[in-house]
Amino acid sequence: MKRIFLFLAILVFSGTVCADGKMPEPKVVKINERVYVLLGPLGQPSAHNQGYMVNSTVIVGDQGVILVDSGGTDEVGRQIDRTIARITPKPVTHVINTHHHGDHTLGNVAFKGAEILSSEQCKVLVEKTGMDWVRIMESMIGHKLPNTRPVPASLTFAEDTRAERNLQGVRLVLWVPHGSHTPGDMMVYLPDDKILIGGDILVNTIIPNMRDANIHNWIGALAKVQDFDAAAIVPGHGPLMTMPDVVRLQRIMTDFYAGVEAGYKKGLTDSEIRGALNLDGWKGLKEYETTMGGNISRAYLEVEVANF
Ligand SMILES: [Zn+2]
Repeated sequence: MKRIFLFLAILVFSGTVCADGKMPEPKVVKINERVYVLLGPLGQPSAHNQGYMVNSTVIVGDQGVILVDSGGTDEVGRQIDRTIARITPKPVTHVINTHHHGDHTLGNVAFKGAEILSSEQCKVLVEKTGMDWVRIMESMIGHKLPNTRPVPASLTFAEDTRAERNLQGVRLVLWVPHGSHTPGDMMVYLPDDKILIGGDILVNTIIPNMRDANIHNWIGALAKVQDFDAAAIVPGHGPLMTMPDVVRLQRIMTDFYAGVEAGYKKGLTDSEIRGALNLDGWKGLKEYETTMGGNISRAYLEVEVANF
């Protein structure tokens, strides 16, 4: 059933990655009459992708659009806005940020007048680290971003809550799990559409980035994701997911954490654990080379604190 559903999702515009200096186009996937996913290019921010490397979800409501995740620069936000204009003439009235990382939030500035929603911790972290993210983006894409500045949420939700809201005639469940990918994640579930939007708690074909993570909580959140009745699952990066993909992600994360913990309990150092871990389930994922070393260090620190 889920496979059929995804198969039927209509490819409206096909994505292209342009030469350096040109903003790429997202691949637009129509999930149903009112929900579209904008699949961004996959990878780290670069001169090639101009900081556009995130997925966004466009929910067309009665009078306006609810956008989930706004892109990594003001220019990416404008590219997303132009893409939305090809779907509907309605303006973006709400932007939901799934977490504070710059690739998901720095496009907020392009949606003037829209109400921004996030978890409480996301708002705090956008205020605290937003300008650092602008600098990180500038150095990765290789040019200045004079018009990009962090815009924190004006409406926030506390950790470990699920709030139901009706925005533009669309029912949304805003779930703030215990901090997982970051201290302030939010997932969005559309009960009438059976669509779950995961932010970076869910990523597909690319390695999950644990730099700001609580891996133990993350594994717990992945278990709870499996309770949702979701015909379509939107990851923060990579192609649309199915529930078996979520199960697989939970399994490799669980085995990874257990492997680091077992090594720690044997008295192995961070680098000895690196050599001893079975990483077969991870090696085929994009950005393995750039991200896995940092993930192991992060897991080691978390295990050390948990076993102190
Ligand atoms: Zn991300």
